[in-house]
Amino acid sequence: PYVVELRAVTKVYPGGVHALRGVDLAVSGGELLAIVGPSGSGKSTMLHVIGTLDRPTGGTVRIGGYDIAGLSDRELSALRGRTLGFVFQQFHLDPGLNALDNVAEGLLYTGVPRGDRRERAAAALERVGLGHRLAHRPNQLSGGEQQRVAVARAVAGDPPLILADEPTGNLDSGAGTEVLGVLRDLHAAGTTIAIITHDMEIAEWCPRRVRVRDGRIVDDRGDGTGRPAQ
Ligand code: ADP
Ligand code: ADP
Repeated sequence: PYVVELRAVTKVYPGGVHALRGVDLAVSGGELLAIVGPSGSGKSTMLHVIGTLDRPTGGTVRIGGYDIAGLSDRELSALRGRTLGFVFQQFHLDPGLNALDNVAEGLLYTGVPRGDRRERAAAALERVGLGHRLAHRPNQLSGGEQQRVAVARAVAGDPPLILADEPTGNLDSGAGTEVLGVLRDLHAAGTTIAIITHDMEIAEWCPRRVRVRDGRIVDDRGDGTGRPAQ
């Protein structure tokens, strides 16, 4: 089955904003997908629906083969913990915790046993090149390092799907390149990744590009099986 399957998905927010107006999207395992489009076109809403953070108003959402309409909120959060890693533009790290504990905290809902969490967290930080920063708190790290901690937190439980909303939006280009390098390595290792981006360079670096406008997919290019350009 597809990792992500949206059929005729609509989303109307309270107040009447039609953020999604009939979205069909199927994503296979191992794809690296860019979601692009103007501000307000529905990209974040689509990512929230794919991420099961928000239920659609209409249509069908299947994640990892499960129709989420048939799952309770509790089952949904269990599915999310096992299946999904999130990276946001704002890093959303706990300022009171060091890098290791920020990542370990992210493993609370993934099914990784308590006794293994710090070891798994350390391995994930190693994977993003921060093995030497375990004891640093967010305010002792650069923006790029903080976002790599956030990426480590997203991947520590080995989720098959990573969702990233403008992951380089708050970073200078050097730090952005580092974070993209980490995502590229994860893609090469088989993780499915969807990235919302305004940056055309990032979009072109993704084998598949989905363009959203006024709550609809207006363009969907790339076979999805290719590797990034570099
Ligand atoms: P994008 O990510 O492309 O900027 P969004 O998905 O954030 O687009 O927003 C799509 C539309 O839905 C916009 O008109 C936005 O103002 C509206 N919207 C987004 N989130 C909410 C919300 N929680 N409540 C009401 N309206 C929302
Ligand atoms: P981004 O810049 O990543 O597209 P947004 O500014 O669209 O993010 O949205 C940031 C958060 O605010 C999201 O959780 C979104 O659901 C919420 N949001 C966006 N637009 C509205 C709105 N008109 N009313 C209420 N919440 C909104």
